[in-house]
Parts: sequence; C-alpha cells; structure tokens
Amino acid sequence: MKAAVFHKPKDIQVETVDDPKIEDSKDVILKVTSTAICGSDLHIYNGYIPQAKDMVMGHEFMGIVQEVGQGVRNLKVGDRVVVPFPISCGSCHFCNMALPTHCENSNPENYGPEGGLVKGKGGGIFGYTDLYGGYSGGQAEYVRVPYADNGPRIVPENLSDSQSLFLTDIFPTGWAAIDWAELKGGETVAVFGCGPVGIMAMKSAWLQGAGRVIGIDIEDYRLEMAKKAANVEVINGKKSDAVQLIRDMTGGYGADVCVDAVGMEAEHGLLSRAKNLIQGEVGTMKIIGYCLDAVRRGGTVTVVGVYGSPYDNFPVHQWFDKGVKIRGGQAFVHNYIDHLIDLVNTGKVVLDDIITHKVPLADASKMYDIFNNKKDNCVKVVLTP
Ligand code: NAD
Ligand code: ZN
Ligand code: ZN
Repeated sequence: MKAAVFHKPKDIQVETVDDPKIEDSKDVILKVTSTAICGSDLHIYNGYIPQAKDMVMGHEFMGIVQEVGQGVRNLKVGDRVVVPFPISCGSCHFCNMALPTHCENSNPENYGPEGGLVKGKGGGIFGYTDLYGGYSGGQAEYVRVPYADNGPRIVPENLSDSQSLFLTDIFPTGWAAIDWAELKGGETVAVFGCGPVGIMAMKSAWLQGAGRVIGIDIEDYRLEMAKKAANVEVINGKKSDAVQLIRDMTGGYGADVCVDAVGMEAEHGLLSRAKNLIQGEVGTMKIIGYCLDAVRRGGTVTVVGVYGSPYDNFPVHQWFDKGVKIRGGQAFVHNYIDHLIDLVNTGKVVLDDIITHKVPLADASKMYDIFNNKKDNCVKVVLTP
C-alpha cells in the first residue's frame, strides 16, 4: 500500500510499504478514506519529538472496516468509522479511571511494574513515534486499529468525511480545552493560537456558554480564519501587546479563561519572533506564560498545545499570587466523542469550514512543507488515499 513515511526531520515521503495485518484478536484493519495533517505531526516533522526508525505518520483518520479480528464485538466489515487518536484498551487501571490517554496496555514499555511511568510518555498514539507505542499511523491506504471495540465510532450516514474527520482529534481537543475550565456561562475566553485546535476551542467555547471569545495569533490569515469560522474578536500578537489588550478589553481584570493552543514551539523559530513583540523582553516565556499573565485572578488556564521538555521561566509567582487553576494534557477523546458526534449530526457545529487543502495522499510530502511553513494560507490539510 501507499503511505506517508517519516524518515528524518523534514523528510516525509509517500512510498510503498507492507499492508497492515491483524496482529491481535481485538484489531481491525481500516481502509482509510480521509486523513488529516495535525499541528502535532509538525513536532515530529521538525524533530522536536524524536523518531529514529521509519514510521507511517498520521493520527487523524477515518475509513471503512476492511477486516475484523476474531475478538471484535462492536464492528463488522463495511462499517464506516472515525477513530480517536489515543489508543485505549478500555479496561486497565487508567482506562477504568476514564483516562484513556494514559492506557497502560497500549504502551506497556512506558509503565513500570507499579503502574508508574518509566519513559515519561503516556499511552499509545497512532503514528506518533516509538515513545507513544510505535504504532503505524493513518496517513496511508490502510491502518491497523488495536482495541477496536473501545475506540472507533460508527459515523451517521448523512455526515460527510469532511464533517466527521475532526472528531478524531481537533474537535475533542478544542472541547477539552474549554471543558477543563468548567464554564458557568458568560465568561470571556481568550484562545492563544488560531490554528485548527485553537479554532475548535473557540467553537467549543460558544457551545459551552462563553459570553465573549478572543483569538490571538501572529499570522493575519489565521486570524481571518478564526473570525470567519468561529466569529471571534481577534488580536495579532505580533503587531500589538496582546496581554495588555486582553486586560483593556476586560475592564483591567483579564480573561476568565486563557487557552494555550500553541505549545512548545513558542520557544523556537516563528514563535520566538513573537516573543519580544507581544510583551517586551520576556526571556524564554512561552504561551502558557502569556496565558498566566492575561488571565484574571482566580481564573483558569488550560493547555492543549503540546509541551515536550521542561520550561525554566514558568511564571510560578503569577500562578500562586493570582490563584489560577491550570489543566492540560492530551485530550480524552473517548470521553467526549459520542456527545460531539451528536453536536455535529444535529447541526449545532460545523467542522469542515477550516479545511483549506483537500488533496490526494500522494501529495503528502509537499503538504507537510506547505502546512509547516504556512504557505498558501494553509490552515488544515485533508489527504484522501
Ligand atoms: P498549528 O501549528 O496549525 O497552530 C498553531 C498556531 O499558533 C498557528 O496559527 C501559529 O501561527 C500560532 N502561533 C505561533 N506562535 C504564536 C504566538 N507567539 N502567539 C500566538 N499564536 C502563535 O497547530 P494546531 O494543529 O492548531 O495545534 C496546536 C497545538 O495543539 C500543537 O502544539 C499541537 O501539537 C497541539 N495538539 C494537542 C492535542 C492534545 O490532545 N492536547 C491534540 C491536537 C493538537
Ligand atoms: Zn492531531
Ligand atoms: Zn487501558
């Protein structure tokens, strides 16, 4: 089959690899119909999350069940499903606590005999390096889906692939960013990052009762997309002091909730350019730091942007003095997905309006470059095998 294979940073090629096979009775093989490139894939593409061996990329995918392991009860050949990006067995210590991204069985090498983390990474994720279980991903014609009774969900027939695909990751992730803030209604939510995840957080903020939503980015075309797809007020953090503006917009108090939908690359390249422009000289302050600065006393900061290394300049003094609640992590897709399918199916939210590029899988290599370098006003890439 054809698949987008990671060789080394900046080197992802579409080439022929072995077809996946059923390896366990709980597996299914999926014929992929649509798959997306995620901001999380860029951490691998740019070398921030290391991968030594060749690997098929992709954790956002959907398709048709092609083959079913003997132990699978909930799926049959021909079912059309979306698949959560975390791999979760549904029955281990952490799965039983509704923490599917920490599944011990999907990434056993990472967990010691007492259930403690050994390597410092959580449960398995499709196409997300050996640190996350070494699974082949779904930017391919076919993919093996383990624990198939616990992850994949059948998609309502009337929903197109474009409307369903983002249930695998970015909509549940945006939803988590707001759910973790436990809105009571009417809050001001400031979302840093108007990429696909940030925009899904903005859509989720309205659905969960926010009174005002502000999007911050450093690329004008991403701000335009946020305005169009999520109807938010926007701030270009490269051209103005975003933290001061958020305070000005909220009577000096700050936003009730700040969401970090940018993550660790704020210390590098593009993002370090914004560092001095957003708020003067702030050393290595990352977006989570800006969030702590821009949130009101007693407010909440949620972090869905990925962090993969320690961060020295963390403004612990502001966290303490302002009494800010902080939550973050990989999104619990399994816990949200059924409710989110309902929201999409009943027309309460539209997901496909952020797709700027829908192209054959064969173009994956070129699309990684376009998405990574923000060429051609690219916001979200969908690949069709
Ligand atoms: P993306 O790279 O398309 O979006 C990031 C956005 O941040 C871009 O629009 C960029 O212009 C903007 N940005 C960069 N520097 C900025 C700054 N200084 N101030 C404001 N904005 C800035 O990626 P994405 O797909 O939207 O993903 C965003 C983050 O969410 C990534 O770190 C990704 O890995 C992470 N993610 C996490 C989960 C999870 O479960 N927690 C799931 C999916 C993605
Ligand atoms: Zn993703
Ligand atoms: Zn488990």
